[in-house]
Amino acid sequence: MKPYIEYLEIASQAVYMACGLCEEIRKNRAFFAKRKKDTSPVTLADLLSQALIGAYLRKHFPYIPLIAEEDVSDFEMDWPKLREQYPELQKFRLSELLQSTKQIKHSAKEENGFWVLDPIDGTKGFLQNRQYAIALAYVRKGKVLVGVLGCPNLQLEGKRGWIFRALQGQGSFAASLEERLSFSPISTSLATKTSEARYCESWESAHSCQALSHKIAQKLGMKKVIRMDSQCKYGLLAKGEAEVYLRFPLNRNYRENIWDHAAGYVILREAGGKVSDARGKDLDFSHGKTLAANYGIVATGGQIHHEVLKAVREVLD
Ligand code: AMP
Ligand code: MG
Repeated sequence: MKPYIEYLEIASQAVYMACGLCEEIRKNRAFFAKRKKDTSPVTLADLLSQALIGAYLRKHFPYIPLIAEEDVSDFEMDWPKLREQYPELQKFRLSELLQSTKQIKHSAKEENGFWVLDPIDGTKGFLQNRQYAIALAYVRKGKVLVGVLGCPNLQLEGKRGWIFRALQGQGSFAASLEERLSFSPISTSLATKTSEARYCESWESAHSCQALSHKIAQKLGMKKVIRMDSQCKYGLLAKGEAEVYLRFPLNRNYRENIWDHAAGYVILREAGGKVSDARGKDLDFSHGKTLAANYGIVATGGQIHHEVLKAVREVLD
């Protein structure tokens, strides 16, 4: 078995490649967006990002299953033509790309762990030139051990495009995409006053109850709200650019997907932050493809977690 640092390296390379591919498609507006059965959009970039990362992981970890959001085999793709068009795909044989589309599993009970991928988290943001993320994590026995988050359109410190990564117990790191994979350590904001905290929530009002977040913000005196798509929100907190992330399903029966949180969870925790559900419970990644035992998400830079949770409880009750 490879040491986990190699998992981190290989996952970083895979996400880095996918960032380039997705940006090329976004800039050329070559999306070919379609609607899935649940009416949410899927684009050519989602499918190619998943096929590319899938093929790369399979090469390095042939026995570790991949749980990913999209069902690429649902779509008719002209792989030979796509391979000609996108140089990143030429790193793989046609058979490897085709294999990669067939290997996706949709259950997550694996003794030896599994990779979990959202090839484009925030597809709606991607389509409208807002934020999106490529989120890859390795989970074993319910724990997220490795997380990599590519945020190709995120602007920080005057640089556009960032990649975040963490290995459990080893801290959290970020690099701008311009610097390729030259990472520096990151940590959360040291702010201890909730009245000065900046809070994040989904850009899409259908993904999280903004009225509830607003009530909590009022209770805590938080004035600055950052509406942003995708797990880029976890990246912002991990880098100390915001202090709170709130997410409450509008439908009580909605359960969060593991690929929408796994990478962000370990990156934020390793940067010094805290992540729990709305009731203060740790996220439990051992229930298949959803966080079935959790309700909502409350993430903070760390220091103010307790105080934020208290306000969340009061408002929810
Ligand atoms: P965000 O951009 O943070 O809102 O997160 C995007 C993710 O929200 C997508 O990848 C979906 O898996 C997820 N999502 C889709 N519909 C809902 C919903 N009704 N409630 C909560 N999350 C959702
Ligand atoms: Mg997603």
